[in-house]
Amino acid sequence: MSLGDGLLNEDEGVSEKDLIHRNTAWSAQASADDAASLDYDYSGLRETLQRYFASRATKPLQWRQSQLQALLRMLTDNKDALSDALYKDLGKCKQEAYVTEIAFLQADIKHALKHIKSWMKPVRKSSPLVAMPAKSYIVPEPLGAVLIIGAWNYPIQLTLSPLIAAICAGNCAVIKPSELAEHSSAIMAKLLPEYLDKKAFAVVEGGKDQTSALLAEPFDKFFYTGGEQVGKIVMRAASEHLTPVTLELGGKSPCVVDSNIDFKIAANRIVWGKWMNVGQTCIAPDYVLIEQDAVDDFIAAMKQAIESQYSTEPKSSKEYGRIVNQRHCQRLASYLEGQDVIYGGQIDVQERYISPTMVLNPEASSKIMQEEIFGPLLPIIVMPTKQAIVEFINKRPHPLAAYLFTQDKDFEQVFVNNVTAGNMCINDCSMFMLNHNLPFGGVGTSGMGRYHGKFGFDTFSHEKTVMRRSFKLENAFRYAPFTKFKSFMLNRFIG
Ligand code: NAD
Repeated sequence: MSLGDGLLNEDEGVSEKDLIHRNTAWSAQASADDAASLDYDYSGLRETLQRYFASRATKPLQWRQSQLQALLRMLTDNKDALSDALYKDLGKCKQEAYVTEIAFLQADIKHALKHIKSWMKPVRKSSPLVAMPAKSYIVPEPLGAVLIIGAWNYPIQLTLSPLIAAICAGNCAVIKPSELAEHSSAIMAKLLPEYLDKKAFAVVEGGKDQTSALLAEPFDKFFYTGGEQVGKIVMRAASEHLTPVTLELGGKSPCVVDSNIDFKIAANRIVWGKWMNVGQTCIAPDYVLIEQDAVDDFIAAMKQAIESQYSTEPKSSKEYGRIVNQRHCQRLASYLEGQDVIYGGQIDVQERYISPTMVLNPEASSKIMQEEIFGPLLPIIVMPTKQAIVEFINKRPHPLAAYLFTQDKDFEQVFVNNVTAGNMCINDCSMFMLNHNLPFGGVGTSGMGRYHGKFGFDTFSHEKTVMRRSFKLENAFRYAPFTKFKSFMLNRFIG
């Protein structure tokens, strides 16, 4: 029997059987419109997970590896069912669903499995002279029972990628997928309890009411992905119990296009980054800033790239998806009112379809330039100078991503040194997401905290510092009474 088992069975008389029974009931889910789900004992769920966490069952490397392997199996065994759910929610074609969600997660897990042992190891640090002889080190510790709130645009990736990080760090978790991607939410609620340790993980489906009920609970961490407004709600709730919080938010990500580049390649990459998932990507280029001498060539190259990737009839292209719901479709349609639409602009709200659309020179005060677009509309704004471009970006809230296409090394340096953004990519879009060695997260209104790879492990860990002193040498300078000599010595050692 492990230490964990022993503690669990002694813990206030709650048996393992009891835990399994109760947690299975919670995993049985209520649908979003089932008001009865609010009668769930959310406190009981959170306490049960925290009690299981306290049993230390989730701490060993073997447990973490077994859960990661189970998640990997879940993704492999159910690849088709997961793609079907993504198709129903967002019209995502199989290939896109595979690359941006399923394979993305599989790679995330494989990377974690390869490195988890080294991530868990205490890290030695040097000690100051005044504390010698001593050993100093950092021990990463799991936080406890965490709440993961997912978003709808990459509903499986954005819910399970934080879960992978939480597992790596040895936490229990409640997973709350977005209700807007209802098929993806339902399949995760069905599959996760079949593969993962039910005593450590539970899925709660539902919307605002269920999320609010969960946020009222003193979890050991909130990890939220979504918009800024709800981000503020999450942070307010976190302040109630001083719960640590990671916010993965969005914003308007600029894309700057210089004149001295290969427009064909740049346009292909921008079209890929913008219209993947019909623009419903938090790091998609939100708008383009460009100087007058480049704009005609750029627009011509963009039209060609759109048509070569999605054909002249994107509505019937199986590669081109749909807007998540009619409400968002109407929101996007309203952004086009009074604008100079230079390409696309076809809208079918009933079918949740909006064609790839480009808009020229919208006013900075217009809705399309005030709000995050999060859809297939691309404003292109002609700017007088490069300096004006940098100023335009810096006058606005810090974006989640900033893109620059240039061959001019000096401009690249100016851009990297002067533009603040969560993530940056030069001469491409979104590719940094595929690098496990880079952290992913926002800054300012685009979010706080980061994850992916080791950064995710750190996000779900507390770095406990440990200093071990020896009895061998007693340095009495620090003890009162402070004579002149002691003060002199202390100042020399510490100052
Ligand atoms: P959403 O509507 O799916 O909401 C996200 C979560 O918040 C859901 O689980 C939902 O149930 C919950 N929620 C909604 N209203 C709530 C309320 N009033 N109280 C408590 N909980 C509530 O997502 P969204 O906000 O439409 O997502 C779009 C935004 O998310 C965009 O701004 C986008 O840029 C951002 N985003 C960021 C990332 C990232 O990784 N940084 C990824 C995807 C999306």
